[in-house]
Amino acid sequence: MNASIESQLASFREQLGEGVTLVAVSKTKPDEALQEAYDAGQRDFGENRVQELVGKAERLPRDIRWHMIGHVQTNKVKEFVAHVHLVHGVDRLKVLSTLEKEAAKINRVVRVLLQVHVAEESTKFGFDASEIRALAKADRWPYPHVCPCGLMGMATFTDDERQVRDEFAQLAALHREVASAMQPVAEAHGEAWNTLSMGMSGDWQIAVEEGSTMVRIGSAIFGSRP
Ligand SMILES: *Cc1c(COP(=O)(O)O)cnc(C)c1O
Repeated sequence: MNASIESQLASFREQLGEGVTLVAVSKTKPDEALQEAYDAGQRDFGENRVQELVGKAERLPRDIRWHMIGHVQTNKVKEFVAHVHLVHGVDRLKVLSTLEKEAAKINRVVRVLLQVHVAEESTKFGFDASEIRALAKADRWPYPHVCPCGLMGMATFTDDERQVRDEFAQLAALHREVASAMQPVAEAHGEAWNTLSMGMSGDWQIAVEEGSTMVRIGSAIFGSRP
């Protein structure tokens, strides 16, 4: 047992307050660690591998909200679409059209965040800001079974706090810029364009200062990963 999971969660909840949702990133961690967090009141969990998310969803309590935070392979969408509360890593049109197709098949609407590439590293995924603007400017949102709830992004992995802050600020500005176009789409599903998923164990404080409404914290809760 890891006695610190409960105290770390309590500490985050206190520091984050009401306005910021804590997604506990439980990738690679065993069911027992998630159960411990669940018993401490945590309900939002993030995974980045389809097989792992689906397995855990089948074994762990039904009221957990599962967040798919990883890069989405389109051939795996049909496996997780029924289990997922929110897909953070929607980074290209092909993912949107595949989610549309698979959600329609099971007569469900899937909530998504559009991932935006703001970091310097080309290894990170995401739409460019111009692609998000194009989606917002289109006559209509072409994915009736996909509900856009906001943006997700990752800052450059660097000690340069100013750069990280600037990247998060860019994301927040883009989120506001397209809100008037996206809010009606979300509202049609009884949802809102109100989620800005940014901030991890190493940079969540800066992210929250720049307007994050959802942080994805793994190692600071569950300990480091192999
Ligand atoms: C692993 C992961 C996290 C959590 O990272 P930590 O540094 O352990 O908090 C957050 N977001 C994404 C997309 C991840 O893959």
